[in-house]
Amino acid sequence: MIPPGSTLGVLGGGQLGRMLAHAATRMGYRLHVFEPGENSPAGEVATREFNSSYKEIERLKDFARGCAAVTYEFENVPVEPLWEIEKVVPLRPHWEVLEVCQNRMREKKWLKKNGFPHVPFAEVEAGGDLAKAIKQVGLPCVVKTADFGYDGKGQMRLNTTAEVPAAAKAFASQRAVVEKFIDFKCEASVIVARNTRGETRTFPVAENIHTKHILDFSIVPARLPQDVQERAAELAVNIAEAFDLVGLLAVELFVTDDGELLVNEMAPRTHNSGHWTLDGCVSTQFEQQIRAVTGLPLGDTSLTVGAAVMVNILGDAWQWQDGELVGAPDWAALLKEPRAKLHLYGKSEPRVGRKMGHFTVTGDTADAVLERARALKATLH
Ligand code: ADP
Ligand code: MG
Repeated sequence: MIPPGSTLGVLGGGQLGRMLAHAATRMGYRLHVFEPGENSPAGEVATREFNSSYKEIERLKDFARGCAAVTYEFENVPVEPLWEIEKVVPLRPHWEVLEVCQNRMREKKWLKKNGFPHVPFAEVEAGGDLAKAIKQVGLPCVVKTADFGYDGKGQMRLNTTAEVPAAAKAFASQRAVVEKFIDFKCEASVIVARNTRGETRTFPVAENIHTKHILDFSIVPARLPQDVQERAAELAVNIAEAFDLVGLLAVELFVTDDGELLVNEMAPRTHNSGHWTLDGCVSTQFEQQIRAVTGLPLGDTSLTVGAAVMVNILGDAWQWQDGELVGAPDWAALLKEPRAKLHLYGKSEPRVGRKMGHFTVTGDTADAVLERARALKATLH
């Protein structure tokens, strides 16, 4: 057990690291951040920030030597340097979990090999025969780069064979995965924690609405039958156990009309769809990450409210004129709703599509809170 008062390290300096730093300091831990870019959202509130490339092994080792354990908030970290960290301190989750989750090809193969339900897919090597893979999967389909995709980046949806040449050109130099397009009923996610003693605990299932491939709303409790939610939680626990996970894992799911669950992707860390826990849950996902990686008992994940809805605030909510930034959102209009909670990540430059913050609204029922959340979102623009 790594007791409060110790120093923890996190790889990545984004908003997840920032909120982790808040949770860590509240519990009496110090948090050191390793992040290539200066003045990161996490660095701003952490005890210490190390700015270096992830490939600078000596600097990474320096960072690791000052920590009792290292975790991450970001997947696109090269795995080789992580082996060096592991020689110095425990890395939680283990680098193999990261290696699987950071690459869609490995992720899908892992799901298949371990017998977890997933979206039908075919693989294409860089310069490989995309048309053949598309034929195998069938149309409509989604082509995704195997590496470094996030927020819908590096994805292309295809409906007809006429679109195949353009896709082949766009993906010519990249490894890719072709997935069947799933006409899902809804998207959901489960965040599971597993500590050093093998204890697991899941947060309530979130129902997620994406707009332009980016998470827009997370709704808890999910408006899904109880048995579907129970199966989703069980699936997440089984995946965490198959990985021998220590830490947090978010599992994104597609839910079909007949309640079938398909794993879309996994992230070995806190997740955007868990931000509602800051305002509507006994334990936040960030506190849980700390408990899991330090070997403390896991916290209660019950809702403290009837329902919570989290809404992402993108750079789109700022006022733009001909691509020039001319004004900020009307925060006072949003906060006229006394139950709205605003979280901004301290990013200096808003950009269209960039996650700048989020707000959460709580209340009695999911439907009623979602309606209020939608109305409040409209006041921002
Ligand atoms: P990332 O979140 O890394 O950008 P995802 O694979 O989760 O990538 O895709 C983002 C969103 O795009 C999903 O949440 C979903 O809304 C949509 N999407 C992705 N793959 C499919 C698919 N095979 N069928 C239907 N929708 C999809
Ligand atoms: Mg996703």
